[in-house]
Amino acid sequence: MASSHTVLMRLVASAYSIAQKAGVIVRRVIAEGDLGIVEKTSATDLQTKADRLAQMSICSSLARKFPKLTIIGEELVVWVDPLDGTKEYTEGLLDNVTVLIGIAYEGKAIAGVINQPYYNYQAGPDAVLGRTIWGVLGLGAFGFQLKEVPVGKHIVTTTRSHSNKLVTDCVTAMNPDDVLRVGGAGNKIIQLIEGKASAYVFASPGCKKWDTCAPEVILHAVGGKLTDIHGNDLHYNKEVKHMNSAGVLATLRNYDYYASRVPESVKKALVP
Ligand code: AMP
Ligand code: MG
Ligand code: MG
Repeated sequence: MASSHTVLMRLVASAYSIAQKAGVIVRRVIAEGDLGIVEKTSATDLQTKADRLAQMSICSSLARKFPKLTIIGEELVVWVDPLDGTKEYTEGLLDNVTVLIGIAYEGKAIAGVINQPYYNYQAGPDAVLGRTIWGVLGLGAFGFQLKEVPVGKHIVTTTRSHSNKLVTDCVTAMNPDDVLRVGGAGNKIIQLIEGKASAYVFASPGCKKWDTCAPEVILHAVGGKLTDIHGNDLHYNKEVKHMNSAGVLATLRNYDYYASRVPESVKKALVP
């Protein structure tokens, strides 16, 4: 056990600097001006040069520092999203973008790092650009100031670029005071822990395990909860299906309020 704790802490520390380095790449590609956009499955499922370069950088750094990662891979699995919020990245909504590195042990998400390369980008020329948020279950989450939405206010955050009728039906059923439509799973979890939104509601397939692994750890480490739309925990073992087919429901507080309002018709349409 002692040695696996050591590996985990080394892995978290490395993920912190590796995510920062990926954040620098994400900024450099924008600065150089050629995004090299490719459509993956559709016009809303994009990949840029930044996705590719950050992916290569993260994976080669991990492989160099942890050559045995595949051997311990039975137990420890690393879920990487080199650039979360690619659609928004291509449209200049830069603070929606994050680099996500999540670590799972025996299928449970236990540690996570979120680098936000363009944090502070509208705060003026003297502001320090970018930040890294990290967390380990049982230890806590760091790199931000925990804040809650005022009691009794229901602010729902959801997808900006991947909406459909199920998504809007479910959001409406929450009876929200306000709805925020922003890009990125990492970005939406940051909204929850910084008191900008009270629930992340996404009643649709589309979001993958690499989108939720790191974010759910950060949220869980501060007492929040992330599940699919039925209330099932997500699993992150090596063999698991990549797609979060039954959507995402996440809150910092009052999880039950939101879970109890998911319409039966939405649940029926989303098979885990
Ligand atoms: P969003 O809230 O739309 O930014 O989605 C969060 C994450 O899930 C992003 O990485 C998206 O690329 C991904 N995602 C969600 N819906 C879809 C979809 N319909 N097709 C492809 N990717 C999706
Ligand atoms: Mg993503
Ligand atoms: Mg991505």
